[in-house]
Amino acid sequence: MPQTGLNGNENRRRKIGILEVQGAFQEHKVALMKAKKCLHTTPELEVMEVRHPDHLVSDMDGLIIPGGESTTISLFLKRNNMEEPLRNWIQTKGHVVWGTCAGMILLSRFTENQKDGGQPTLGMLDTVVSRNFFGRQVHSFEAQVTVRSPSLAGNSKMGTSDSNCHGVFIRAPAVLKTTSSDVQVLAVLERPEQKDVIVAVQQGDVMATAFHPELTDDLRWHSYFLTMIEKVKEQR
Ligand code: GLN
Repeated sequence: MPQTGLNGNENRRRKIGILEVQGAFQEHKVALMKAKKCLHTTPELEVMEVRHPDHLVSDMDGLIIPGGESTTISLFLKRNNMEEPLRNWIQTKGHVVWGTCAGMILLSRFTENQKDGGQPTLGMLDTVVSRNFFGRQVHSFEAQVTVRSPSLAGNSKMGTSDSNCHGVFIRAPAVLKTTSSDVQVLAVLERPEQKDVIVAVQQGDVMATAFHPELTDDLRWHSYFLTMIEKVKEQR
């Protein structure tokens, strides 16, 4: 039976863009499709590449900024005159964004450990992020991430029943500080006798993870992102 709703948006396919400069375009796409299947309720998805200001169409519902090298990605955005269009697109009501790793750095308002000469960010999250927080020598590691948000606790709909998740960290950043109470901590890395390290946050319709859920079988982050999009639709 066709679903009906107050605003008639329910049946329209959801368009999700992935900024395709570097990083895991295909892995994110596959995970989104799998997460959609798990959730059942989400309408059909169209996943599109975003590489040009014209790709930032207003009827795109969500955007993923994948990992890579934040300096390279910001240079790409600058060269292609995408910085302002991207900021505008993100700030338009109803648009949902998720940055992974370098994407987290780009979304943050403040960055420490920047490359010499500084690097512009999009400034969409009230956070201070440290680039390469875990040190240059630790290029990559895997660790258990403690999920703080009940909405992200594992359940069969999200393809996992674990309450905590497996995190793949690749020259990863971390959030040193949140500078607004609007920022919600979604997940941390617990360290014995030290302060927990914040590795996933959300502020309104913007989410960021320091790790790479697209490189694991844990679909909860992609499911959650799709749920954020549906929530925004309900509110409109
Ligand atoms: N530390 C990298 C940077 O500065 C990010 C690494 C990643 O996205 N895997 O952009």
